[in-house]
Parts: sequence; C-alpha cells; structure tokens
Amino acid sequence: MAEFDNPYAEADPFVRAHFDCLSCGGKLWEYAIQGQMVCEDCRSVYSSSEIFEKQANTEA
Ligand SMILES: [Zn+2]
Repeated sequence: MAEFDNPYAEADPFVRAHFDCLSCGGKLWEYAIQGQMVCEDCRSVYSSSEIFEKQANTEA
C-alpha cells in the first residue's frame, strides 16, 4: 500500500469559513480539498478565490 502525506486524512474535510453566502447570507463552509465553499443554507457552491475577491471588495 502506497504511503503519502495527506493533510486532510485526519481532518474534517469541511472547514467553517469566516464568510457569508453571497446570495442568502448563510454560513459558508470551505471544502478544503477542492478550494470551494458551500453555503449551509442554500447549498450554493463558490470557489474560494471568488469569495476572497468579493470579501476584499466589500471590506475597507
Ligand atoms: Zn446561501
């Protein structure tokens, strides 16, 4: 059996992100493996980079 380091092997694949859904304002969960975020309310899927971009624009 091949051995390799998988940083997600022992972690919950979903990481609660500190971002809100763009469409309903629900909590987003980051799906670390694929660099995506999923809303826990409406199940919309966003790319992490898209969220970071939007968040950067709304802050400041
Ligand atoms: Zn949502």
